[in-house]
Amino acid sequence: MTDFSALVREANLINGAWVQADDGRTVEVTNPATGEVIARVPNCGAAETQRAIEAAHAAFPILSGMALGERVALLRRLHQAIMDNLEPMAAMLTAEQGKPLAEARAEVTSSAGYVLWFAEEVRRADGAIIPAPTAGRRLLTTRHPVGVVAAITPWNFPSSMLARKLAPALATGCTTIVKPATATPLSGLVWGHLAEQAGYPAGAVNILTGSARAIGGEITANPKVRKLTFTGSTEIGKELIRQCAGTVKRVSMELGGNAPFIVFDDADLEAAVSGAMIAKFRNAGQTCVCTNRLYVQSGIYDRFVKAFSDRVAALKVAPGIEPGAEQGPMIDEAAIAKMEELLGDALSHGGALTTGGKRHARGGLFFEPTVVAAANEQMRIAREEIFGPIAAIYPFETEAEAIAAANDTEFGLAAYAYTRDLARIFRLQDGLEYGLIGINEVLIVAPEIPFGGIKESGMGKEGGHQGIDDFLETKYTCIGGL
Ligand code: ADP
Repeated sequence: MTDFSALVREANLINGAWVQADDGRTVEVTNPATGEVIARVPNCGAAETQRAIEAAHAAFPILSGMALGERVALLRRLHQAIMDNLEPMAAMLTAEQGKPLAEARAEVTSSAGYVLWFAEEVRRADGAIIPAPTAGRRLLTTRHPVGVVAAITPWNFPSSMLARKLAPALATGCTTIVKPATATPLSGLVWGHLAEQAGYPAGAVNILTGSARAIGGEITANPKVRKLTFTGSTEIGKELIRQCAGTVKRVSMELGGNAPFIVFDDADLEAAVSGAMIAKFRNAGQTCVCTNRLYVQSGIYDRFVKAFSDRVAALKVAPGIEPGAEQGPMIDEAAIAKMEELLGDALSHGGALTTGGKRHARGGLFFEPTVVAAANEQMRIAREEIFGPIAAIYPFETEAEAIAAANDTEFGLAAYAYTRDLARIFRLQDGLEYGLIGINEVLIVAPEIPFGGIKESGMGKEGGHQGIDDFLETKYTCIGGL
């Protein structure tokens, strides 16, 4: 495996210095495929966070006062630094997170893509001249960085979720405090090293690891932080929104999903099966856009279940660094225990197991890719985000029934459907209450598109031209006496 030791930072970045926690405590980082401890990172709390916020606050006039061309040049150098380190960054991501190396490479490449996108997009963050209703006045809007931005990121995409937040922040001139997930801190800390290489001033990027509650508590309470951008569970997201209310911060939230995947009788069966494999089993099912509920129309149901189950049974389960690995380990013991619990519940409510169903013979954190047919609304997996390699297939009869079932959830992130009927495609576009809709496609995310959920899946967009708006305040100026 590519040696990534040169990129490992076992320290936190505060005001341009790599430091330890005040009390010297650390947290272990383990490889989920082997259980081996691969690093120790600081276990910081509120005091260190407060200093990081002070540093970001002091650096804000420096970064936001820079010529736009200079900030664009910094981002371009950051993009280059990522591309130069693509292989070791991917190896590091696989080592601490578990995903197959090919998926890790794709994630790091996507991270670089976001940096480049925002370097380009910020050049178009223009204002307006508004036709004045009254003589002798000129009305203008201008756009300004919101100020100090805090980013809290999850372990399932520890690099690209950070890229989507850090890149628009730095592009617009916002300085940052980043808190990566405790399970995957190395892929977050490396951004500090890359930002230094690119030439960012001290305090522009601060990265803290440790107690989520203590760091999050300070971030949300401190009035100097003007925006919080978060990706994680709906439960924690709601708590953070409440905490941010005290200082009326701007919030962007990318929260949980419960993605439906609807296969109609007229679908291209092979394409639908291939799409479902990716949409369900990517990252061992641990993504917020992963299919949670497969709805298959009665005319194609048996054929789909058979073809899909055969493909699932053939998936190669192995450590992410093994050539050809298609499903790596789960992130931790709690995640695997949840699979056993959800599966037990589904089978007790009449589910039909067609493949998988237990911990994998490899042991450790590996779980068999699993399919439960004849799924129904009584099962917990119909309501809860599975976040693992269990696919549940629900039969349905009519289009209206499928759309109603798909929408019967508090979530609204991603939805997928396979059909060749164009009129139906437009009905789905109108009818599905989701922020992201994939028709006959599942890999639908790119820097160019506005990623984001509706309902309890979140607020705000990441990527697209919308992805920069959340980092800018619009000011209106009326110049009179002209
Ligand atoms: P997931 O486990 O799906 O990634 P979480 O919402 O548990 O979702 O975690 C997402 C991120 O939020 C992680 O970086 C985690 O450490 C952080 N986090 C968890 N609890 C809190 C909290 N109370 N305050 C701030 N951040 C938190």
